Amino acid sequence: MEHVRIFDTTLRDGEQSPGFSMNVEEKLRMAQQLARLNVDVIEAGFPISSPGDFEAVKVIAQEVRGVEVAGLARAEAEDIDRAWEALRHAERPLLHIVIATSDIHLKYKLRLTREEVMRKAVEAVQRARSYTDNVEFSFEDSTRTDLEFLCEIAREVVRAGARILNFPDTVGYAIPEEYGQMIRQIRERVPEIPVISTHCHDDLGLAVANSLAAVRAGARQVECTVNGIGERAGNAALEEVVMALRVRRDVLGFSTRVITEQIYPTSRLLSHITGVGVQPNKAVVGRNAFAHESGIHQDGVLKEKLTYEIMRPEDVGIPKSTLVLGKHSGRHAFRERLRELGYELPPEKVEELFRRFKELADRKKDVFDEDLEALVADGLAEVPQRYRLLHLSVVSGSVAIPTATVVMEVDGVEVRRAGFGDGPVDAALRTIAEITGTRSRRVKYSVDSITGGTEAQGVVTVQLEEEDLTVVGRGSHTDIIMASAKAYVNALNRLEYLKARQRRWA
Ligand code: MN
Repeated sequence: MEHVRIFDTTLRDGEQSPGFSMNVEEKLRMAQQLARLNVDVIEAGFPISSPGDFEAVKVIAQEVRGVEVAGLARAEAEDIDRAWEALRHAERPLLHIVIATSDIHLKYKLRLTREEVMRKAVEAVQRARSYTDNVEFSFEDSTRTDLEFLCEIAREVVRAGARILNFPDTVGYAIPEEYGQMIRQIRERVPEIPVISTHCHDDLGLAVANSLAAVRAGARQVECTVNGIGERAGNAALEEVVMALRVRRDVLGFSTRVITEQIYPTSRLLSHITGVGVQPNKAVVGRNAFAHESGIHQDGVLKEKLTYEIMRPEDVGIPKSTLVLGKHSGRHAFRERLRELGYELPPEKVEELFRRFKELADRKKDVFDEDLEALVADGLAEVPQRYRLLHLSVVSGSVAIPTATVVMEVDGVEVRRAGFGDGPVDAALRTIAEITGTRSRRVKYSVDSITGGTEAQGVVTVQLEEEDLTVVGRGSHTDIIMASAKAYVNALNRLEYLKARQRRWA
């Protein structure tokens, strides 16, 4: 069966959308998981756009194996040189060049004629080819580009040596029949294109449908993102494209190399890193994606799963067993459970997490998978701890003025202070802000419970901004005020870490 290449752009198109920024360590962690997921290409970033992006692409190119690593460049010499500098140590680098081709973009954005765009495109590919034979070329806004011109420039770009030609629906405007038709015509008129690629946006909720229409019309690479994150309404969701191809192999007739059992762990990791979850009814990875509520459906599923299940939860890596861990669970069960959840960790890391698990099990009778995931996410997301929260107590209620007493360690020195606030969380966070003297602004605060009942752990996400830096901190605890304080301190540590890095670049 013929393969469709899965080109993941979570770390480029996804990461550049608001609320999804990640630092270098987080991107590397995500890239390692994408390699386990076995995508064909990881687009790691846009190297010339910032020192952070350059660094991330470079580190991923150096460290992640068994996958092509792509970096984006505009059709400019300095962009291409910079992208190559970041990519050169990859096992299999892919230089990805983009230029807009629609008249709207030419006229208002680039202020270039079609002839000038054509020349720039060819020169860019030639320059890229001086570095590598693995070159992809994207025609931004291709769905609003004159087809005649698109075919003409495609021909020239292939002649200059591009291997993959990508036709993005940048503005999410196409509908499936139309987009499929466009790809079919390109393939007929320019049969020499080695690989046709799609890149669809979800403004009309059609990104996955458009991608599949393109595959049926001859595309052999799909660009997509985990959880469908990306500009505006997002990109085609990787998990949906992959599972549609797998479940409906009978009609579509293609396979991918993706190890589908890694889909769920990948989706969860992204949510943990960014602090942004997926909607409960999200296809494939949503909390309710495999939940059967209606009585008739439940009855059917209990008699025979196939009555209402078109795929099995375990096919996408949702753990099958309902085994719940508790304080009597041993190391072995703990390690096995982590493995089932998709986390392969070094022994010393497992040991450290096991200690934290025991502490949690003392406070909470049943430890669910979601609790373990929170534990792993907390444990892996380590940055140097300039600030440590030692003690926190809060008085609140209908008569009291909410008051927090906080003891922290700042650069190894113990500091204690009390303060007021509008509520218990506010009092705690204000007091921590005073102790640390932070100049950051709290731009987002959200609380979620990991599992059902009132004994559940609260997960708090705090987003901070200082100048052009944005960080997300997370904390989980059975006491939501503690979870809030932990999340805030975590965010402050991340911010300090980023500031220190920036100073190093400056
Ligand atoms: Mn895009």
